[in-house]
Amino acid sequence: MTSPNRVTLKPGDTIGILGGGQLGRMLALAAARLGLKVQIFSPDPDSPAFDVVQNATCAEYADVEALELFAADVDVITYEFENIPASAAMILAARRTVLPDPKVLETTHDRLAEKNFIQSLGIATALYADVASAQGLQRATAQIGLPAVLKTRRFGYDGKGQTKIRAGDNLETVWSDLQTKSAILEAFVPFEREISIIAARGFDGEVVCYDVTENEHRDHILKTSHVPATISDTLAAQARDIATRIANALDYVGVLGVEMFVVPGKDGTTLLVNEIAPRVHNSGHWTLDGASVSQFEQHIRAIAGWKLAHPLRHGDVTMTNLIGNDINDYAQWLAKPGATVHLYGKGTPRPGRKMGHVTEVKPADLSRK
Ligand code: AMP
Repeated sequence: MTSPNRVTLKPGDTIGILGGGQLGRMLALAAARLGLKVQIFSPDPDSPAFDVVQNATCAEYADVEALELFAADVDVITYEFENIPASAAMILAARRTVLPDPKVLETTHDRLAEKNFIQSLGIATALYADVASAQGLQRATAQIGLPAVLKTRRFGYDGKGQTKIRAGDNLETVWSDLQTKSAILEAFVPFEREISIIAARGFDGEVVCYDVTENEHRDHILKTSHVPATISDTLAAQARDIATRIANALDYVGVLGVEMFVVPGKDGTTLLVNEIAPRVHNSGHWTLDGASVSQFEQHIRAIAGWKLAHPLRHGDVTMTNLIGNDINDYAQWLAKPGATVHLYGKGTPRPGRKMGHVTEVKPADLSRK
């Protein structure tokens, strides 16, 4: 992979962000603190990120003229979600440096390409097989065994586009219900816990990892993160090493999240990589209040060509997502001593919609008691 074009922004320069959700909003706030301006590009007029920037482009990703004007207005471009249409990324990348390099998306867009890439680095994943038909699913279940998880190769997130298959399930029905032509079957992993690493890589190849985060999901959506994770120092070092190797192999510039399963076994505990998120990640939201520099600032520093921070953690941290109607409890959270509340300014609290989060930091000297 060729190294992406180096940019070095000055305070006052403008970062273009594709996507206007909460991640774009928190990136824009971090950029503002560093004296950088942000222009958001999003097709949704109700984008929460629009509320915190002066300049915004509300247009479809297929609107070539809007993309060209956007590229002309900004000094570097980044994105807050990974499902950027390849055509939009190409138009932008021909005019302005886009970071992380959109080539990364060719790997992370597709669960099969991503798993093949991870394995090519000698990093373990769950057993998996390519599935393109009901007959293919029969063959894959014979090879991998059940229970297993069938996932669409593209556009899956927060458990969408995936289904668990148990012994005795009708595979024809499972296949037609998923409504896809391309999927992977993964062995169901009997994990002890789920962890993630938030890592940043700068232009100079330096990689800085935050402490390992332990994640609990509810209905396939991240509910809480705890830092530090309850794993050994050896396993934590392995997790950092895995994320570093992935970031280096992708010649990555910016912040990425790597989700892993911790799996107990006869020969000790092992790590399996589940997924790579080529962006700031929900399990890194704790860094806003729990570390001296957040994942959002770290991403802005990386794509601006600035020095990465070596963030210090302020103590033991818990991050709780406010999902759907959880937002209605915001007043109780505001009243809770030590809690820091972040609300994303979204309208209607639909089920599964991430509306905000709360961080609670137990300072290191108190957490020892
Ligand atoms: P994903 O969309 O791949 O991140 O999956 C969402 C969640 O589903 C994960 O965080 C796990 O809790 C669960 N999950 C996904 N794949 C597997 C698997 N192969 N075995 C067990 N649980 C899984």
